[in-house]
Amino acid sequence: MTTYEGPLPKPDRDSQAYWEAARRHELVLQQCADCEKFRFYPRVVCPHCMSDRFEWRKSSGRGVVYSFTVVHRAPTPFFRDKVPYVVALIDLQEGVRMMSNIVGCDPAEVKIGDHVEVIFEDINEEITLPKFKLRQVLNSSMGGEV
Ligand code: ZN
Repeated sequence: MTTYEGPLPKPDRDSQAYWEAARRHELVLQQCADCEKFRFYPRVVCPHCMSDRFEWRKSSGRGVVYSFTVVHRAPTPFFRDKVPYVVALIDLQEGVRMMSNIVGCDPAEVKIGDHVEVIFEDINEEITLPKFKLRQVLNSSMGGEV
């Protein structure tokens, strides 16, 4: 693996379990043990009921595009050969919204409401980044999801 020059997250006490799961290619979310709502990003206290009791749960990894932008102008030299790329807000089935990239397609293909599924990009021994790809959804009469 070559040295990665791009920006990387710095796992902290609250997010360490999240990044460890990403290394195993699992997307995990905190679920409040009191009100049972999911939350993202990782934090100590539930934003809905202020409880500090929670469990890590594996996410379906599936969601829909809430909004997105296509970046054409590289914010730093690292991104010069990456543009254009998609930065999206994704509403996961568990009810949380997260920001990530949509990869593996022409950025011009992406639309609000598109179904997406998580994939994992191994960056180095410590960091794996969850990203998303477009997902074909059969219509509901074929047993797919709406
Ligand atoms: Zn709660």
